[in-house]
Amino acid sequence: MEKILPIAQLGAPVIRAIAEPVTDLGSKETQRFIDELMLTCDKAKGMGISAPQVYRSERIFIMSSRPNERYPHAPKMEPIAVIDPEVIWHSQAMEKDWEGCLSLPGVRALVPRYSVIDVSYLSREGERVEAQYEGFLARLFQHEYDHLDGKVFIDRVESTLDIVMEKEFQRIIAERG
Ligand code: ZN
Repeated sequence: MEKILPIAQLGAPVIRAIAEPVTDLGSKETQRFIDELMLTCDKAKGMGISAPQVYRSERIFIMSSRPNERYPHAPKMEPIAVIDPEVIWHSQAMEKDWEGCLSLPGVRALVPRYSVIDVSYLSREGERVEAQYEGFLARLFQHEYDHLDGKVFIDRVESTLDIVMEKEFQRIIAERG
């Protein structure tokens, strides 16, 4: 049986560690871990989750974008596992938008991210994938990629005034319409 994994919160050393490359992607153990990471992301209603967020310091994350009450405009995609990713190109242009994180529950911030990125990574089958992402998915990829290098979204804000708590975030969003 796959199990739901406990989620590390900011303050846990693993959240600030540089994650290790994946050495045994084909193993049953790693494949089961990927299943459990996907299940954990789904149950937590996350758009993505990285291995360090479940106390495993390895360069793996899940992207699982779909619209929900937290992110009504998120594009719908089949969940994918991203292994040993690299950002091989990014636009000069950046966009600021709201982010949250399963490891910082209740915190929201306006975070600048590159608008367009070209990325390379391995699929869970070990195949090299090259892709271009823009907008929400580019943001999601950069957020999860940062976790592999021990960074979290509040490290990227232009001003600490761009950090708010969930209740006030809901008010701000409602006022903005
Ligand atoms: Zn996060």
